Amino acid sequence: MLPYATVEEAESVLGRSLTAAETLWLNYSATKSDYFLYCHSIIFVFLFFFVFPFYYLSLEFFFKESVRRYKIQPEVELSFADTIRCCKSVIRLCFLVVGPLLLVSYPLIKMIGIRTSLPLPSLWEILLQLGVYFIVEDYTTYWIHRLLLHGEWGYEKIHKLHHEYTAPNGFVAPYASWTEILILGIPAFLGPTMGYRYQKKVLQQLREGLKTDGGQNNSALHDLSAQNFKVE
Ligand SMILES: [Zn+2]
Repeated sequence: MLPYATVEEAESVLGRSLTAAETLWLNYSATKSDYFLYCHSIIFVFLFFFVFPFYYLSLEFFFKESVRRYKIQPEVELSFADTIRCCKSVIRLCFLVVGPLLLVSYPLIKMIGIRTSLPLPSLWEILLQLGVYFIVEDYTTYWIHRLLLHGEWGYEKIHKLHHEYTAPNGFVAPYASWTEILILGIPAFLGPTMGYRYQKKVLQQLREGLKTDGGQNNSALHDLSAQNFKVE
């Protein structure tokens, strides 16, 4: 929930006019709890586990000949029964593992320092953070996949299911065991966790530096601290 109830209140605290996006966000979120706002990430689960896979699957069914040349293994066709089985497994996984995991991860999100308050981050801040998080996630996923999931034990016990279908369709990417879903949650959270720790360390060093320079009232630093962390 935002600490401001009205646009005027937010503007007087921030000392500037709100942008259009900030006004929109304030009007939408001012009376909603942080947990409720966090639950909006269910939308992304819905997109990545239902909408995109169904989109690609429908392309394959309704425009079979047009998409065939883009397929890596055009000669392999999954039977309708296998496709349905794969879809059902992914949807079950989504309801029983991914959704509940997301709903109980809120304390971790709080601990990492992800916030819902104003000011909103700039476009550059969003792009930079997403870029770094994707690199961290991709690199970590690669090594977990290579060392653990394709190790003798990891493959037999965890990863084999994911490679059951040798040719991809829209639903094969998230088709995996529940343990794999949990393990691959680690890289997803690693980037934001590291980013928060790094930002906090840099700000602490800046704060200490300014104190020794006698610049304790530096407003830019104060704003940055207040924006990202609880002021200690
Ligand atoms: Zn693999």
